[in-house]
Amino acid sequence: MSVHSLRGFRDLLPADAALFAGIEAAAREVFALYGYQELRIPTIELKELFVKSTGDTTDIVEKEMYAFTDGGGREVAVRPEGTPGMVRAYIEQNLSQTGRNAKYFYMGSMFRAERPQAGRYREFEQIDVEHIGNAAPFADAETIAMLVKLLEKVGVEGCSVEINSLGCAECRKVYRETLLAYLRLNAATLCEPCKGRIERNPLRALDCKTDGPALAEKAPKLALCPACAEHFARTQQLLTMAGVNYKVNPSLVRGLDYYTRTVFEVKTTALGSQDAVAAGGRYDDLVKSMGGPAAPAIGWGMGVDRVAMLLKDKLAIDGSPKTFIVSASADAQDQAFRLLAALRAAGISADSSNLTLSLKSQMRSADKSGAAFALIIGEDEVKAGTVTVKPLKEKGEQFTVPVSDAPAKIKELLERKNL
Ligand code: ATP
Ligand code: MG
Repeated sequence: MSVHSLRGFRDLLPADAALFAGIEAAAREVFALYGYQELRIPTIELKELFVKSTGDTTDIVEKEMYAFTDGGGREVAVRPEGTPGMVRAYIEQNLSQTGRNAKYFYMGSMFRAERPQAGRYREFEQIDVEHIGNAAPFADAETIAMLVKLLEKVGVEGCSVEINSLGCAECRKVYRETLLAYLRLNAATLCEPCKGRIERNPLRALDCKTDGPALAEKAPKLALCPACAEHFARTQQLLTMAGVNYKVNPSLVRGLDYYTRTVFEVKTTALGSQDAVAAGGRYDDLVKSMGGPAAPAIGWGMGVDRVAMLLKDKLAIDGSPKTFIVSASADAQDQAFRLLAALRAAGISADSSNLTLSLKSQMRSADKSGAAFALIIGEDEVKAGTVTVKPLKEKGEQFTVPVSDAPAKIKELLERKNL
């Protein structure tokens, strides 16, 4: 058997995992400020849920979904995105009846079988939010402002926010016909997949990676009805009020079926063609169309892998222990084991290698550990009830303290030297 991971699936070694965890921690802080609560949903749902909500003409469902028949003969899928599951939970758990704001966040893996490359994986992590039951432009501005705040907080620089409005079902109905007429006329210039799907979903052609850019320039533009135009104008006013720098991009359509009115994308120039860091939009009709109450909603998803790539060189997160305990003789092992516990109880991270190994081997591990101090207990120390402290990161003489004073002394040194 050859031992290897699947293409597009990867291991996050401690430095990367710490970076992901740091981004998640920042997100939790920001979400708390904005009144968002966590809601965890399953990784696997009925396939039909994604087909009906994300849409069967979207790339995600048509080409990228990990779907299979489970042992019980059910057609299921590993989630390619979170919104369908969230909407299902909102309906199934009667969340419209809680009397509280339905503002939820969740984080975790999404799965899409697309061509793996830098910034594009088959399992990737998203941090997502959904705000269900608020139709006002305040919700649009708040959610976009929160996304910008989060990116700022984690230290992502040089991003641009693009927004557009796709209008409501009414605007779209009119536009669908105009666009379809245009696409039929120009069908010869379209890529094969688009030729096949324009009748079912003409808007998809605008989001197609092949045809989209040219069409965005030449195809007729969507005209918003007065109510949608008002919503879009007000959203922009509020974004300005919230201090968000944004650009209106009339070609921004997003690939999913359920979007209405405001859609947005945060892009960076630092990641080549994988330039979208986060994206989202309104889905005012989705909850109702899935059998729930009329509940207009808005949400976004942020690609944690891409954010981590942007931060990699800037954020060196050190998960090394502060202290490394070394037992320098056989009769010192129990003392060393107790000292580990005492340090940890005092809130100081402490580690050791195998305490039964040679002093030389344990000291080698201490040097590699990244710890600030080695705490060494040998025969003499056991007799005297002391421990020898050897600085590993900075130059300095080693010294001896009573074992019982060691945690307080180390704590003081770590703080004073900012280690
Ligand atoms: P793209 O145009 O890059 O394929 P998308 O429109 O398919 O992105 P969304 O469904 O909007 O992406 O997902 C939200 C975010 O999740 C994206 O902005 C991106 O940062 C991230 N993302 C999407 N697909 C992947 C992937 N395969 N690998 C890593 N991150 C991804
Ligand atoms: Mg995609």
